[in-house]
Amino acid sequence: MDVVPVTSLAAWTEPPFSGVIKDGYVWGRGAQDVKVTVFALLEAVTALLEQRFAPKRTLYLAFGHDEEVGGGRGAKAIAAMLEARGVQLEFVLDEGGPLLVDGLRPFVKSTAVALVGTAEKGYVSVDVILEGKGGHSSLPPVDGSMALSRLSRLLTAIDGSLPPAKIVSPTLEFLQGVGHASDNPVIKWVLSRCHTWPLNQLLARFLASQPGEVASAVRTTIAATAVTTHPSAGNVIPSLASAHFNFRYLPGEEEDFAQRYLQAFLKGDGKHGKSSLQVHERFEMASAVTPVNSTAFALVRQAILETLAKDRAVAVVPFLLTGGTDSKHYQALCGGRTLRFAPVAMNRTAGDLKRVHGIDERVSTEAFLDAIRFFTRFLSLALA
Ligand SMILES: [Zn+2]
Repeated sequence: MDVVPVTSLAAWTEPPFSGVIKDGYVWGRGAQDVKVTVFALLEAVTALLEQRFAPKRTLYLAFGHDEEVGGGRGAKAIAAMLEARGVQLEFVLDEGGPLLVDGLRPFVKSTAVALVGTAEKGYVSVDVILEGKGGHSSLPPVDGSMALSRLSRLLTAIDGSLPPAKIVSPTLEFLQGVGHASDNPVIKWVLSRCHTWPLNQLLARFLASQPGEVASAVRTTIAATAVTTHPSAGNVIPSLASAHFNFRYLPGEEEDFAQRYLQAFLKGDGKHGKSSLQVHERFEMASAVTPVNSTAFALVRQAILETLAKDRAVAVVPFLLTGGTDSKHYQALCGGRTLRFAPVAMNRTAGDLKRVHGIDERVSTEAFLDAIRFFTRFLSLALA
């Protein structure tokens, strides 16, 4: 199984590849993301085999080795093999949202929230290449015609005119679920009506301006991730400048949204030279949205309520993953019926989420045992 790298070895309390068990936690890179679910799943299957559980359906356990970099060699190859064998899947359960034991503050305080991903955003990258007046850096043009001047105008314009904010499924159902679980009557009232106009638009705009993950759930995002120039020398004005833009599409976004969006900015800046767009090979639309009233969701919900809601109330809430999972490779095999949930208790207030991909990643032994209980129950429900 792959994990993300450890970049600051000295900052860890325990060596990140020791797997040491101390103070009630298993420490190490991957402890939360996602070795805990891999081992919990394997423990659950082992337990069921030992109990001589006889499944009525076939279960496939699929572990990719390159999930963090897109799953192009792992999950993609596994899916291709299953397809070649003519396998059709009832549904897929992959990693995804956690069980937030401290709720979703400030909206939900007294109820734990199990976030079950019913969709994930798409991934589209486009390079914009701009020509401009080059030459010796001692004689720069003063009319804004340099390639880098054009590029900086483009970046500024994009920051000032981001793609529109909108509340689409499953963020709609997420907000309704959060409203239902909220202890605050005002939030309860507002979120129960979040599908109605004009509240939906006001709410979308408000959420889009918030720091953190919620802003990305209500729009197709765009991020400039690299800038290059050609030629590249300290005393030469480059005649070409390009930027790499990464878009994360909302469900339902048009396929050519990225190109149309970028072209709208370039239209007004043609007098200084040519511009062109290059769409990258990795092109993924957002996934289908798995309905909350599907069999898959009902099974996951039941297993959560029976195994993870021991000493606390749990609200099971669908949501949109802003990142990607390996499950995208199985979309054609399962008709898009996919849920993304890691049955692992995390406390956001205590900083558990920051440890994922961060320093001092760890999982409590109690949360690990609960994850085994979840999978054991889930599999016995789903395979019966
Ligand atoms: Zn990860």
